[in-house]
Amino acid sequence: MGGQTLHIDIAIIGGGVAGLWALNQLRNRGYSAVLFEQEALGSYQTIGSQGMIHGGVKYALAGAWSAASEAVSAMPAIWRQCLAGTGKVDLRGCRVLSEDFFLWSGADLQSRLGSFFASKLLRGHVQKVAATDYPAALRSADFRGQVYRLADLVLDVPSLVRTLALHQQDAIFAIDWQQCDLQREGRKAALALAGCTVVPQQWLLTAGTGNEALMAQLDSRQPAMQRRPLQQVLVRHEYREPFYGHCMGGKPSPRLTVSSHQDQCGRPVWYLGGDLSTGAADEAADTVIARARQELAELLPWLDLGATEWATLRLDRAEPRQPALLRPDSAFVGKLDGVDNARAAWPTKLTLCPDLADEFERQLAAENILPRHPQDLAALAGLDRPGIARPYWDTLFG
Ligand SMILES: Cc1cc2nc3c(=O)[nH]c(=O)nc-3n(C[C@H](O)[C@H](O)[C@H](O)COP(=O)(O)OP(=O)(O)OC[C@H]3O[C@@H](n4cnc5c(N)ncnc54)[C@H](O)[C@@H]3O)c2cc1C
Repeated sequence: MGGQTLHIDIAIIGGGVAGLWALNQLRNRGYSAVLFEQEALGSYQTIGSQGMIHGGVKYALAGAWSAASEAVSAMPAIWRQCLAGTGKVDLRGCRVLSEDFFLWSGADLQSRLGSFFASKLLRGHVQKVAATDYPAALRSADFRGQVYRLADLVLDVPSLVRTLALHQQDAIFAIDWQQCDLQREGRKAALALAGCTVVPQQWLLTAGTGNEALMAQLDSRQPAMQRRPLQQVLVRHEYREPFYGHCMGGKPSPRLTVSSHQDQCGRPVWYLGGDLSTGAADEAADTVIARARQELAELLPWLDLGATEWATLRLDRAEPRQPALLRPDSAFVGKLDGVDNARAAWPTKLTLCPDLADEFERQLAAENILPRHPQDLAALAGLDRPGIARPYWDTLFG
């Protein structure tokens, strides 16, 4: 290490939604903070997400109202405050794709879902929809099931990333790991750049799957990470009515999840997840596409999508390691083994980013890590700025 030392309160590595959210919240709280991104902001999971802000009902279907449902159920209201400009992070400028998320089932599941949703616990989280208010995709004389409206909302993720980045432009830098080094001196981590060493009170690693390599670089094995891979399906088509919904089959997880987007030329794209994608990570793309076609034909047989083009997307979901690769219940922030000034974090869901930032703040306060250093980033003036990741519906079709 050599040259100038940049003292700052918080340095974040990884500019997905988790890092960007934390950067906004911490600076709004008076901490000085900087974020380093090696590719484009929002790459991988964030830009690949469906943008649903879950209210927990999807998880409650797995059985009782669980810890996951508790943590998640508070989230839509928190995001709505931020969208209105009255929360801890200002999301005015982020586009809401839909205030409604539907859940539908075939006639065979009607009574089971009906009694489940009528339970006291779920009151306020889910509402039965009258046939006159069905989303267009389910308005057919041949549809025999039930439709529910969830408290969830759906965001346009590219505009979310742009909005989070816009407020913090001065504090976001591109990092080229060929030109710098994350080093450990005793029990402290520092970043050696040309002519400058960054030594924050605390590092926050929010690099998604990239956290693993960053931790290895610092010789730290804990907290351990797990990857849960999936293969989503994208279909570009000519049906213009947007649709956001989970179709429930015989299992507690959605059989199919549909969200609607538009490519850069305004053409509609449906992004298909749920069991269709989580069980398909290792299958050939053609096999998964064939199954997606069959699912749509079975579940929405009255629908004519017009001319279609198909693609799939393989991604890893990065999370703290759980027994038997289960999905963790809430956002995770944990101290790096052997490094006093670094924590790794995974939100587990985009929805849980507010929870991640709150948890990080709690941990800082518990160690008396308070705003101390000025926001003076002149030493980083030579670094470039990262761009914003392009949505997969603009890059995956030929
Ligand atoms: C297909 C899919 C659909 C999903 N849908 C939803 C949904 O609808 N609702 C929901 O709540 N959640 C959803 N999720 C989960 C959600 O997307 C993730 O929990 C969330 O985006 C994780 O954000 P992150 O910032 O931690 O990581 P990422 O989004 O993966 O971002 C990590 C960032 O760190 C950068 N990086 C990596 N290594 C380095 C390094 N060494 N140095 C600098 N930068 C680095 C990457 O380039 C990237 O920009 C979905 C996930 C997937 C895969």
